[in-house]
Amino acid sequence: MNIEKSKKEFARAQEVIPGGVNSPVRAFKSVKGSPLFIKKAKGSKIEDIDGNTFIDFVGSWGPMILGHAPDMIIDAITDAAQRGTSYGAPTIIESEMAELICKMVPSVEKVRMVNSGTEATMSAIRLARGYTKREKIVKFAGCYHGHGDSFLIKAGSGAITLGLPDSPGVTKSIAIDTLTADYNNIESVERLFSEYKDQIAAIIVEPVAGNMGVVVPNAGFLQGLRDITKKYGALLIFDEVITGFRLAKGGAQEYYGVMPDLTTLGKIIGGGLPVGAYGGRKDIMDMLAPLGPVYQAGTLSGNPLAMAAGLVTLKYFDSHPDFYTNLEKNAAKVEAGFKRNLREAGIKGVVNRVGSMMTLFFNDKEKLESFDEVMTSDRERYAEFFHLSLESGIYLAPSQFEAMFINASHSDEDLDNLLKANLEALLKLK
Ligand SMILES: *Cc1c(COP(=O)(O)O)cnc(C)c1O
Repeated sequence: MNIEKSKKEFARAQEVIPGGVNSPVRAFKSVKGSPLFIKKAKGSKIEDIDGNTFIDFVGSWGPMILGHAPDMIIDAITDAAQRGTSYGAPTIIESEMAELICKMVPSVEKVRMVNSGTEATMSAIRLARGYTKREKIVKFAGCYHGHGDSFLIKAGSGAITLGLPDSPGVTKSIAIDTLTADYNNIESVERLFSEYKDQIAAIIVEPVAGNMGVVVPNAGFLQGLRDITKKYGALLIFDEVITGFRLAKGGAQEYYGVMPDLTTLGKIIGGGLPVGAYGGRKDIMDMLAPLGPVYQAGTLSGNPLAMAAGLVTLKYFDSHPDFYTNLEKNAAKVEAGFKRNLREAGIKGVVNRVGSMMTLFFNDKEKLESFDEVMTSDRERYAEFFHLSLESGIYLAPSQFEAMFINASHSDEDLDNLLKANLEALLKLK
């Protein structure tokens, strides 16, 4: 595969952009090699500047659940742009968007739009602290909630991929208020609450972990978090930046039937444009300025282009009752195919999946349910597998600790090609 142009552009970018990228995992550092510079994408296909095309299973790390550049989204953005790209004043589409989110996401009664998932989680935590008048938060090892200071403690995603579990620049006084528990381990949460009782404002959790690779919540884990937070008067925050509108119209809370107090959203909600949101119980959300004392603002929040793209996307789910059933069917086929291929190639692996998000871990354990377990996976083998897949036209996340996403644009042929390439790659690993 010729990637000369990408290599040249990467060298150029490194002169003026730290590491050559605007978000660390894009750099291919953990799989070695040079990142591909993208020229364009349409439907399930993505093309680099050297003219190589791939079936894309990254989907911009989650947002592109309808595939790339669907006509209806391009039309909506183009149409909105004709009328101006930002006003800094209220618009009707913001209310339409908020009404639809409140209708779709079961626990959300009021919602505030922001510009990224990071902004959503940072704001939700501030609100939880303001509401409860408590300072500490509980997060789980391996869960990623964006790059806000409070969350860069045992964080997932790029932070583990690059081996930066605690980031310099996060002060001790902030770190001290972030308590870490183990995913799928209710006792580790109980211990923190019995020690810190009325100092804990909230638990924040990815209801399905997607940023240490996919890790599935065990039966009763999410309900256990609901029960503990209720008992101790803390809030439960579901970070549904990945799972929102992916597992169901109403996200993981609908899928698992556990209702948080606050929900953070991002990725899919913007239809490919930069959007985040946080919402939840009315009495909590009404603590926000200008109604209440908790401050949060944004010059470009509720941006008309972003709202146009988001609204078309959410309306699509709302009007296609079979959407998630179809995704599930395709994703189940991929999971079964991966498992069959692993057996056939005689390679040890674990496939974790919920709905259209999954990870194939190279690991000889039976199951992977926590950060510590996931971290025993074979990164070098993944790197080899990643490059073999790329060579046969399959674009996967350049890290063992990320999710792969099946989206609505993947055809039967795409999935057959994926499974064929997957078997070939696994056979070559031997
Ligand atoms: C991606 C992600 C974020 C951060 O969102 P950005 O838009 O990248 O700031 C937060 N939480 C989860 C669970 C995510 O996957």
